[in-house]
Amino acid sequence: MIEVRQISKGYDKVQALKGVSFEVPAGEVFGVIGPDGAGKSTLFRILTTLLLANSGSATVMGLDVVKEYEKIRPQIGYMPGRFSLYHDLTVIENLELFATVYNTSVKENYHLIKEIYQQIEPFKNRKAGKLSGGMKQKLALSCALIHKPVVLFLDEPTTGVDPVSRKEFWEMLRKLKQQGITILVSTPYMDEASLCDRIALIQEGQFLQIDTPQKIIQQFPKPLYTLEISDHYSWLNKLKSDPRIESVYLCGQALHFTTNEDAGAIVPESKLIPPTIEDCFIQLMSKKIATIH
Ligand code: ADP
Repeated sequence: MIEVRQISKGYDKVQALKGVSFEVPAGEVFGVIGPDGAGKSTLFRILTTLLLANSGSATVMGLDVVKEYEKIRPQIGYMPGRFSLYHDLTVIENLELFATVYNTSVKENYHLIKEIYQQIEPFKNRKAGKLSGGMKQKLALSCALIHKPVVLFLDEPTTGVDPVSRKEFWEMLRKLKQQGITILVSTPYMDEASLCDRIALIQEGQFLQIDTPQKIIQQFPKPLYTLEISDHYSWLNKLKSDPRIESVYLCGQALHFTTNEDAGAIVPESKLIPPTIEDCFIQLMSKKIATIH
């Protein structure tokens, strides 16, 4: 459904994408996961035919994003980062505008957005600019869906949204997938990786790995330990200078480390834990840095 071959894109000062390749089969929820500035929006803008790459090629539904952009646009839904709603228009006016642009009407396709839209319908006469983050997100998704797209591109749909709305949003995506819609979604939240069928971990314009979240976790190369202590920073420095420790870093509120030796002998309080996608990301990043130097 989506095929990307060696896409590169540079702006004046930065190389935002450095030869990215991947494929997304029909019906998949594919997550592009990485921090701010990694190149996610640039990739989404190229695939939604809004930006030209410097080199490489890409097709969506078998159509070339450069030569056949006119055929692609009516068949895709795009929810850009920071939701491009018209803040001075009301909820219903925004929705009607998107429907009109795509030559359809809210009435004609109401069934498609019903479940999502019903949650914000009580506020339909409120200006979009006055909605909460979670409500804006639901309106933006309704707008992206109103013309019955085959492929949905959701760029950081959960950024800046409260945890309950984030959870509800992923539940909505699961239902859209059941309707056969292919979804490309980006997020900086590593904990959302497990909700995707497959993910690409992106850092500085490059994909570090593409696989199912489970397989990426299985490929974590070493036993991983945590140390539940309050004095993180002094332990971080202590373990950093210990030659028996291979890697040590802070992961949220916890200190994580790997070693080839007996961890219990080095730090008796340490506990063996399963790695998360965040651990995999950090490990892949340090591997990349090690290969560069
Ligand atoms: P992400 O969506 O992962 O945050 P972006 O694709 O927005 O990443 O940005 C990738 C890099 O390209 C960043 O360093 C960003 O500052 C830069 N960048 C993005 N858009 C532009 C632009 N229009 N002009 C110049 N630099 C840009």
